[in-house]
Order: sequence, then C-alpha cells, then structure tokens
Amino acid sequence: MNIFEKIVNREIPAVIVYEDEHTLAFMDIGPIIKGHTLVIPKVCYDPVTETPDEVLAGLIRICKRIAAAQIRGLGADGVNIIQNNGAAAGQEVPHLHFHVIPRFEGDGHRWNWAAKKYDNPAEMEKLAEKIRQGLNG
Ligand code: AMP
Repeated sequence: MNIFEKIVNREIPAVIVYEDEHTLAFMDIGPIIKGHTLVIPKVCYDPVTETPDEVLAGLIRICKRIAAAQIRGLGADGVNIIQNNGAAAGQEVPHLHFHVIPRFEGDGHRWNWAAKKYDNPAEMEKLAEKIRQGLNG
C-alpha cells in the first residue's frame, strides 16, 4: 500500500482540506509554497495515461475548487497546477496526484524553466509528426 492510500485509510495522519466519495485533498508536507495542496483519487491510479477519463474529470474539478479557495482564502495571486508521471518527470509517490500550489507576487520561487530551441523547423515538425502518430496508437 502506498503512502497516499494510507492517508485515505487514515493509517497515517494528513491535514485534509476537502473530501468526497472519490477524492481527497490534503496539505503537502513539503510545500513548494506554504498552502501547497495535493488532490488525489481515493482509489490508486497511476500513471495519468492509465487513469479513466471520468476519474480525471472529477479530479480537475476539485483542483479548480482548491485553486479558487487558495485565491479566496489565502489571498494567492496565482496558482500552479502540476501533475508528475514517472521518475524521469520527478514523480515520487506512485499514486496519481495533482499539486495545487498557491503563488504570491514576489514569493521568490522560480521553476527551472529553461526554454530550449529546436535546431531547425524540420526537427520540430518531425517530433510533432511522431506525436500525431502516437495519437492514433
Ligand atoms: P511527486 O514528486 O509528484 O510524486 O510528489 C509527491 C509529493 O507528496 C511531494 O510534494 C511530497 O512532499 C508529498 N508527500 C509525501 N508524503 C506525504 C505525506 N505523508 N503527507 C503529505 N504530503 C506528502
């Protein structure tokens, strides 16, 4: 059983901010910014590509509500919603989760968002074509 399932089962503690039949939202113990909240399905799905559409639809609706609550309740100026899949993408807990992170003007956090360049337009087109083909897979 993974750590988030233990939280769902109340085997380990968490500070819960929202719960319904299918969903739990609780405070991340290692916040990027204080107020950082995780939104999870109670049933473990992982990764996103193996998660039923209706589960994802339900989760993103709750993410929207948590984001609105961070703006209203915490006075956040903005919100990041992030979802990691696989160790290569920085995922640590193998249970689908969305990070909903309140952002404040001047909060000092910077993503390591180092935009790169394609070598040429053909390289971009080639990769786009592979993704198009992947859509049909
Ligand atoms: P990820 O890297 O996307 O898998 O994110 C996992 C997140 O879970 C991290 O931000 C951790 O700080 C958070 N986390 C791990 N264990 C707990 C816990 N027991 N309670 C709350 N958050 C947790």
